[in-house]
Amino acid sequence: MTWQDGKRWVYSVTYDEGLEALLDNAVPVHRKYEMPGHLALVASQLGVVRRIPVELDQEPRCSYDGMMTLSVEQIKMLCAEGWGVSNHSMTHPAITAENAHYEVIESRKVLEDALEMEVRMFCVPGCNDWYEAVRAVAAQAGLHSILTIYDDINTADTDLLRLCRAPLHEEYPPPFYSAYDPYKRLYQAVDAGGWVIDYCHCPLPGKVMHPWKDCSLEHLEERFEMVLRVGGDDVWLAEPNEVVEYLLSVR
Ligand SMILES: [Zn+2]
Repeated sequence: MTWQDGKRWVYSVTYDEGLEALLDNAVPVHRKYEMPGHLALVASQLGVVRRIPVELDQEPRCSYDGMMTLSVEQIKMLCAEGWGVSNHSMTHPAITAENAHYEVIESRKVLEDALEMEVRMFCVPGCNDWYEAVRAVAAQAGLHSILTIYDDINTADTDLLRLCRAPLHEEYPPPFYSAYDPYKRLYQAVDAGGWVIDYCHCPLPGKVMHPWKDCSLEHLEERFEMVLRVGGDDVWLAEPNEVVEYLLSVR
């Protein structure tokens, strides 16, 4: 199996929540390495101060609450540079059979109307426990792919409705713990001719908002350098929608 333009493996990186602080931090690193990025966007949280849950009678519960999210104009600017987007639900709840229509199907329409582009990739919010409820409405929602946080590489045969992502984090949650690993899954992808999709939120210089959810900006740059060192001319640096569309075209 070779990928587009004869490349032997693929590397992508995704940022959940679409925070505005990406512009001053991760985005310049992307430009330096000519690396396309990807935003998983919550449809109700575009160009606003992030607040999850959206219900005002409940306490905010996410480490990224209180941070500004990217505006429609900023998202369009990144897309013009080769970035892509996925739908990360309407309000970032636990997805169930009861709310799946609103969170997976109606949110797609809201996002597409705001961004004036097609959004056929869904990114499961929260944790993999909510995956099955998303999968159950995938056809109805017209999805071509689903991003999860199952930690693995993907291959040319991967189920596009269950794409795996590798957490690009400072450490795993207890009781496991781990150290940041710039090589994580890269040689596995080289040997398998696979596709690594990294997952983080908003790397910042010298610190992380949450060690289970992010790496530092320095570690992001180290990761990109490692991808290019390990990959050389063999790695296709690609935005995930682009890879899905390529796989659909060759299958
Ligand atoms: Zn999220």
